Amino acid sequence: MSQLVYDIRNSRYINLTGRCTLQCAFCPKHNGSTEVHQYQLKLDKQPRAEEIIPLLGEVTDFDEIVFCGYGEPTLNLDALLAIARHVKAHGGKTRINTDGLGNLFHRRNILPELGECIDALSISLNAQDEVTYQMHCRPRLKGSYDAMRAFLKEAPQHIARVSASAIDGLEGVDIPACQVICDEAGVHFRHRALDVVG
Ligand code: SF4
Repeated sequence: MSQLVYDIRNSRYINLTGRCTLQCAFCPKHNGSTEVHQYQLKLDKQPRAEEIIPLLGEVTDFDEIVFCGYGEPTLNLDALLAIARHVKAHGGKTRINTDGLGNLFHRRNILPELGECIDALSISLNAQDEVTYQMHCRPRLKGSYDAMRAFLKEAPQHIARVSASAIDGLEGVDIPACQVICDEAGVHFRHRALDVVG
């Protein structure tokens, strides 16, 4: 049975979609695993907000309600916004883990809408340049790297807490260069260890 919500530490995570704009070579999904922290996250269809909201519980009991899972949450944007508005209306805090391709995918700037109900964004920067990004993330859409960088730059104008991450130990990924990109965009940089998702 796939899991629509799951808890890691003191946060509740929402598994909003199985679809992705990337096909990361390092993703466990492409390496035969459909589990994160022992949770079965494979989804056969995109859940609707009405299916998720009753599973949230008392949102103030958690540090954050996080949109994450084994797919890109902004691909299920209507559900994401409806759930996030519900969380904010009940005093909770919201975060999205995203590949930063929501604007490219939707062909418009979705950041103002996110800004109304999202407290924090964690963006997967993953690489300091397009060649390295293509090698590891294998994006489905043309222009993904530039679109992600533009999203990273614009995000702090709409969202209070923005961070970006790259994975330490992946071939060709220059962690200090990723740090510089984040410093210039005014976002917090986090480097993650290989094989840790979530
Ligand atoms: S964005 Fe995340 S879930 Fe999607 S392919 Fe990459 S690592 Fe996997």
